[in-house]
Amino acid sequence: MAKPVVEKRYTLSERIYLVEILKGMVLTWRHFIFNFRASFRPGPHTVPTCWQYPEDRREISPIFRGEHMLLLDEQGRELCVGCGMCAKACPAQCITVKMAKVPEGEEGRYAGKTCSQSFNIDLLRCIFCGFCEETCPKGAIVLGQGYELARYTPEECQLGKERLISNFRDAKAKGTLKPPRKPVPVAGEAAKEAEEKGSKAKGTRTGPATARKAAPPKA
Ligand code: SF4
Ligand code: SF4
Repeated sequence: MAKPVVEKRYTLSERIYLVEILKGMVLTWRHFIFNFRASFRPGPHTVPTCWQYPEDRREISPIFRGEHMLLLDEQGRELCVGCGMCAKACPAQCITVKMAKVPEGEEGRYAGKTCSQSFNIDLLRCIFCGFCEETCPKGAIVLGQGYELARYTPEECQLGKERLISNFRDAKAKGTLKPPRKPVPVAGEAAKEAEEKGSKAKGTRTGPATARKAAPPKA
């Protein structure tokens, strides 16, 4: 059923519009003064004004995937063993690694028995997917918080080992290293653990899968 139209009765101030216009102007000026004063505040702004980049920089998420780095352990030894798994996993094929045995007398420089003789990442091809980071068995490669990736020449976009290690040192000095990743259990291991837990709870012993054959049907 249609509602009857009720004619709205406007007050005198509404009919002459002046007061309403003034109310609107007060609101506009209030926002203008607030933002104007905020633009003189030092440090990152907390109001929706322009960020004065590069002086003001936004906080980056700790899990942001930016420029890569090669990690060193607590003793300053290279964690990378040159296995090349990151290069295999890279969908853009932009990692080149050459493995080598740790030279005699330089054992203190490397955490493993092998090392990467050369390591290169072509930033022009990288899509920052993070697969290299995910797949590294030693946790040696990490995508850091560096997002200023513009370079003048293609050669500068080739990240060699020295550059990758210096990225790590810079991030460590600034305190912007990523928090360590939680180890992800392998599917087989997780199932085994769950099975063991279940059997402990029941107080039963389970043998290998082949031993647990179904009982023959009764005659
Ligand atoms: S960064 Fe990791 S995956 Fe890549 S070569 Fe070094 S140890 Fe292997
Ligand atoms: S982030 Fe992805 S594309 Fe870039 S180097 Fe790592 S695996 Fe390759």
